[in-house]
Parts: sequence; C-alpha cells; structure tokens
Amino acid sequence: MDVQNRQFINGSFVSSDSSETDVVYNPANNKKIGTIARGNEEDVYEAVAGAAKAQKKWAQVNRIKRAELVLQLANLISQNKNELAKIYQDEQGKVWAAALGEIEKSIGYIKYMASLAQSDIGEVLQNEVENETIMLVKKPIGVTAGIIPWNAPILILMRKLIPALITGCSVIVKPSSETPFGTLKIAELLQQTDIPAGLVQVVTGSGAQVGGLLAKNKNVDLISITGSTSAGKAVMKAAAANVKKVNLELGGNAPAIVTSNADLDKAVKYIVTARINNSGQVCTCPERVYVQENVSEEFIQKLVKAMKKIVAGDPKSAKTDMGPIINQKQLKAIDEKVKKASSEGAEVLTGGHIIDRPGNYYEPTVVTGVSEGSSIMHDEIFGPVLPVATFKTLTEVVNKANNSPYGLSSYAFTENLKEAMELSNRLKFGEVYVNCEAEEAITGFHAGWRQSGLGGADGKHGFDEYLNTTVAYLRYE
Ligand code: NAD
Repeated sequence: MDVQNRQFINGSFVSSDSSETDVVYNPANNKKIGTIARGNEEDVYEAVAGAAKAQKKWAQVNRIKRAELVLQLANLISQNKNELAKIYQDEQGKVWAAALGEIEKSIGYIKYMASLAQSDIGEVLQNEVENETIMLVKKPIGVTAGIIPWNAPILILMRKLIPALITGCSVIVKPSSETPFGTLKIAELLQQTDIPAGLVQVVTGSGAQVGGLLAKNKNVDLISITGSTSAGKAVMKAAAANVKKVNLELGGNAPAIVTSNADLDKAVKYIVTARINNSGQVCTCPERVYVQENVSEEFIQKLVKAMKKIVAGDPKSAKTDMGPIINQKQLKAIDEKVKKASSEGAEVLTGGHIIDRPGNYYEPTVVTGVSEGSSIMHDEIFGPVLPVATFKTLTEVVNKANNSPYGLSSYAFTENLKEAMELSNRLKFGEVYVNCEAEEAITGFHAGWRQSGLGGADGKHGFDEYLNTTVAYLRYE
C-alpha cells in the first residue's frame, strides 16, 4: 500500500509539491504499511483553486441529480466493502465486525443523505408589506474543507463529503496522517463515478500545516474539523481571520450515571460495550462512571467481572473483543493517566498496564477511589479505562456530570421513568443515552456543547450546516 508522494487533485493522483513524507504504521504490530506525502502550501493552493472552479458548475446542477451521482459512490463502496474494511483495519486496528460495520453504516449514510435531496429547498414567508412575497432560499455555502481524525475515519469522511456534495459544495479533505489510506481508496472509487473531477480533493499532511492552511484560506467558505478540542481551537482561531464558518466536532468526557433503580446487568453490559468500542477511542465513550452509593458494591463487582472477560489482542482474530490503541504516544498517555490516579490514592481493581506484546495494547481497566477533582475524571481518556465514583442524590450527580468543559455525550441508567426523564432533561450534553450504548443515529444530530464543538453533523440539521440562506423580497405592486 505504499502510496508515496501522491495527492488527489482535480480527479487525478498527482505528485505532491513537497518532497517530505510520513510513514504510516499498523497499530496491531507497529509494522510499516505505507508512506504518504506531507503536503505543503502549493498542494493546498492547487486543491482550493480546483475545488472553487468545480463548485461553480456543480452548484448549477439540480439537487436531485447531484444525489443520484453521489449514490454511485454508495454502490462502489458496497462492491468494494471487504477491500475497504481490510485497508481500514490495517491502518486503524478495529476488529473486523467494527471495520465492516463502519463501511456499511457509511453506505447507509450516503443513502439517507441522498433522500434529503428531495426535501424543501427553502420557505415562503409572510411579510406585513402588501404585494410582497418573501422567499427564504437555501444555497450551497461553496468551497468546504473537512479535517478528519483517525478514530472513525471512513464514517467521518462521509459526514464531511456527502452533505457537502448533495447541497452543491466542493470539499477538500485532509485525512489524519495515521489513517490516510481509506480516504485515498475512496478517492479512487470517486474516479469511477460521474461526480465531476475537482469537487473532491484530498491533501495529506500534518494538521498544523495543511489543516492550518485550509482554515485560514480566504477561498474556503466552511472549515469542518473532527478532532481534539485543542485542534478545534487552532482551526477556529485561523478561521477568524476571514470570519469563515466553522463546524467543530471535538473531544468529550462522557459521564455515565447508574442509579439505585438501574438494572445493573444492563448498565454493566452497555457501559462496557461502549467503553471498549474501538479500544475506548471514541468521542462518545463513557469516561467516568457515577454509581449511587447503595448499589455501588454490587455494580463494581459486576463491572470488574465484565471488564476481565474482555479479550484484547490481534484485531484479525475472531476471538478478539478489542484491538490496539492507535500509536505508542496514545498508549503511553493512557498509562500515565492511570499511574497518576494510582499515585493520588486511587485503587486499580483490574487492568492498569500496557500489554506486553508487539503492537499497542492496553488492559481493560477499572479504577475506584478517585476524587472528583482528579484528572482521570476530567481529562479525555482515549482508552479502555473506567474510573468509578459514587453519589448520594440526583442533584449532586447532575452537578458533577455537568461540571466539565466537555459537553458531547452522557449516559443514564435507571428503570425509573421519573429519574430517566429528570436526567435526560438536566444533563447538559449534546447526547443523552438512556439505558443503551452510544450509537449515533444517521438521522439524529451529533453536536457537542461547551468545548466539545460548534454546529453538528447527521440528519437534516447536519445537512443544513452546508447551506447558506438568501431572503428574496419579491414586490409585485
Ligand atoms: P487530533 O486533533 O490530533 O487530529 C484530528 C485532525 O485534526 C487530524 O487530521 C489532524 O491532522 C488535524 N489537526 C491537528 N492539529 C491541527 C491544527 N492545529 N489545525 C488544523 N488541523 C489540525 O485528533 P485525533 O487524535 O485524530 O482524534 C481524536 C480526537 O478527536 C479526540 O479528542 C476525540 O474526542 C475527537 N473526536 C471527536 C468526534 C466528535 O464527533 N465530536 C469524533 C471523533 C473524534
């Protein structure tokens, strides 16, 4: 898969203007799987110029026709899903069912977004002036840029690409340097569709360099990033120079609240499923558990037992529940957080170590005795670690849960309807999962509060992120 020095510009794979490259490794064994170009200013310039030219014509194409062309990509992804899932598994480390599942969800995503092409393209409004009709018309924003993380790179690519194309925009994609090959394969598939060349450009390279250049480029009308909160802040700052629209999908630190009215087996099952998903590297994973005091002992026993059963290892093995962590740096960061909590007096009930084998594996871990102020309760932990604390009253736990700079996802486990309603109403997060694991719906709206983001993705509201409005006042006196 040695791609070397290529970028996808105006429908063709061309040499990067830069001679610098980055090596991509398989996190399951840390073996090299390929090399990509570290793009530079020239690459970004060409991509933006091509995207601007292509977008002008594309905006004139009927929206239903655009959706028909985009659906060709869904068919090609479907025909190539095993090959795509294999590329994806090698660069990202997901277990097979999850890799294939994300490809299948991506196909569903395209089909759903294509169906929105049939929806209204504006509104007719009442005005107090006689003989005047007002039309609110939705128009494509123009040239967009999408910066992708490594943890769900195919689905997140779809989130940037598909609503943009159907609404009449063009897109410059900057994949993560950890997981560029799935995106480059999708670019190859795009060559086989009738979607005009230039509407999708792919520039590989570093976030600060390529991402930064896209964020400040005056010809990019919308910059969308899914990534860490620090990268989101850098993008927002760069975009401010041109008052460019930003769409930020950033980090999280989801609380999971288990009350004394919860079905404890169900709570354990869903919290563990959500926490080990993608080895704990999902923005919506539960990252801090609050359990009501009178059921805490029983809950913690069940939780530890379930975490001990998780098989971490080679993602290609059918016996594996959880694959590797993306790289050595992230692996060490997880270990340091657990060690720090331990040195502050927390008790590690299971796990707490890097697994001694090739690749980047961390033991499924449960930590108790953590103080509310401890960093393990407040920083994002991108790994299979569950710190557990106790609470007495709902008000106390709601205050603790909401007291976070992050506001992406939250969880509540209770069989009591009043408690379920109260928690879902009082938790200040973009998502509240009540008695279930996190599975963002294609039809929903994935959008963080506070420092977890601005704007959102999915559903009709995600579609609208790529539209500007013009209000036309039509006088006929
Ligand atoms: P990251 O911030 O390191 O990188 C994400 C992308 O941003 C990469 O393509 C990177 O090259 C680019 N980037 C980095 N610095 C940049 C800068 N200064 N300017 C422009 N672009 C820059 O994040 P990651 O490690 O790839 O992904 C994990 C993070 O993403 C976690 O914080 C996770 O919570 C978050 N995430 C959020 C969502 C969501 O929907 N809210 C979804 C997935 C991941």
